[in-house]
Amino acid sequence: MDDHRLTIVSNIQVLREEIAELRAQKKTVALVPTMGALHEGHLSLIDFAKEHADKTVCSIYVNPTQFAPGEDLDAYPRPLVDDIRALEGKLTDFVFTPTDDEMYPDGFSTKISVSGLTSALCGKSRPDHFDGVATIVTKLLLMVQPDFAIFGEKDYQQLLVIRRFVRDLNIPVEILGAPIIRGEDGLALSSRNQYLSAKEREVAPQLHQTLNQLSEKIKDISKDLSELLASANDELTRLGFKVDYLEIRDAKSLAPIAEIFEDQAARLFVAAKLGNTRLIDNVAV
Ligand code: AMP
Repeated sequence: MDDHRLTIVSNIQVLREEIAELRAQKKTVALVPTMGALHEGHLSLIDFAKEHADKTVCSIYVNPTQFAPGEDLDAYPRPLVDDIRALEGKLTDFVFTPTDDEMYPDGFSTKISVSGLTSALCGKSRPDHFDGVATIVTKLLLMVQPDFAIFGEKDYQQLLVIRRFVRDLNIPVEILGAPIIRGEDGLALSSRNQYLSAKEREVAPQLHQTLNQLSEKIKDISKDLSELLASANDELTRLGFKVDYLEIRDAKSLAPIAEIFEDQAARLFVAAKLGNTRLIDNVAV
């Protein structure tokens, strides 16, 4: 008998009451924050959440403060009915879909800002982005007060930023990172992939292929790192990408790496535009 029910909540007070009821029943709770347009990458986070906690809350909110003017806030896909169906298919317990007024009432004037980690990679070309992310995730964590919150390694820098402010602010939650889910051709799944034209979609997997090849070459420590990066950058440009960054950094601190040492956890990071679509990816080295 299937007695599962997905509860849809838009109001913060109602959400708090629902969570309080779970707490009274001694249930553990996992939160999966998303901006919707859900794909298998998001749904893998729901599976991950269900492995860790009794009850799963998925938030769907396209957070305006993490978009800069001129970015794709208005164009961002919002297929809420499909999303809810997908969450039902995964036996999610709650979906939280707040409005902008609920999240950013008149006079809202607070932000959470993480320094250091946010100055490189995506933070360079999107200077206010991580403040927006940190602020909204803090709000969600305070609203749900989950035992676990799950984030994808697809947004690896974001995952580190979240771990950092959760630690710095002593927020009582365990942050879990989940692996990147890719299409069969290697392209990391992303809600933004639907912006790609058919032609761009054919080229897009080369981003991951180039990263993989680079990662293999880097294992040969006799090779010059900066030369390898420069030639991979050229290759991406030749393929039609407009590279924002292609860098190798320490996987924990995001400090730049000039030379690879054994036992060092390093990671390759790329962001590149294909037409108007900004794609990001990363791989462990
Ligand atoms: P978004 O809706 O893009 O804000 O993403 C919500 C969450 O899903 C974030 O924690 C992302 O890192 C994660 N995510 C997005 N795409 C993927 C993917 N392909 N594999 C794993 N996690 C993902």
